[in-house]
Amino acid sequence: MRVVLLGPPGAGKGTQAQVIAARLSVPAISTGDIFRANVTSQTDLGKQAKAYMDAGDLVPDEITVAMVSDRLAEPDAKAGFLLDGFPRTIAQAEQLRDSLAEMGNRLDRCLELVVDEEELVRRLSGRRVSVDGEMVQREDDKPETVRHRLEVYREQTAPLAGFYDEVGLLSRIDAIGEIDEVTRRALEALGADEALADEPDDESGR
Ligand code: AMP
Repeated sequence: MRVVLLGPPGAGKGTQAQVIAARLSVPAISTGDIFRANVTSQTDLGKQAKAYMDAGDLVPDEITVAMVSDRLAEPDAKAGFLLDGFPRTIAQAEQLRDSLAEMGNRLDRCLELVVDEEELVRRLSGRRVSVDGEMVQREDDKPETVRHRLEVYREQTAPLAGFYDEVGLLSRIDAIGEIDEVTRRALEALGADEALADEPDDESGR
């Protein structure tokens, strides 16, 4: 199954991507994670991306699209994938559609995680991530940058919901609630009944 996870920063995309991908037995591919790994290891790609990321801006399409094409060409993505944080512009979505078509494939669904903006700001400003065992605030989770990222989302990424809706691929998922409940809504929208049946009885099943 080939799925795109769409949603503003703070909607829980990263968390849901991991859980949903595991249930579907496909890799979760996060462009933000790939960029951050490159920034940490100071690769050329990381050096190109860092200033954009720190400012809460999008990394230019050419750089991002080339990176994703390389990742999707890896063997584990052949049978399916769940994209988290890509595409983020109409141009990226068109490129994705065209490169999948070249391989004789197409997307199965775009899941849009829907959360109101007040809740997003609350979640993002309280978010901490683990770096070398320490819980720290991501540079781009600082309040000024959060506001800018939400603006970038509204202007450049939110129109993707219309893009996918027009071709009948969009499912809007209410992303407020317990993690398990949101996952259940997402799997239901994917018609992933087998994955739903696999649902573990308790936390130890994960
Ligand atoms: P994320 O972890 O998805 O919030 O991504 C963190 C940052 O990485 C974003 O604010 C962008 O600067 C950059 N980034 C991630 N994915 C993309 C993308 N598809 N296009 C452009 N920039 C991206």
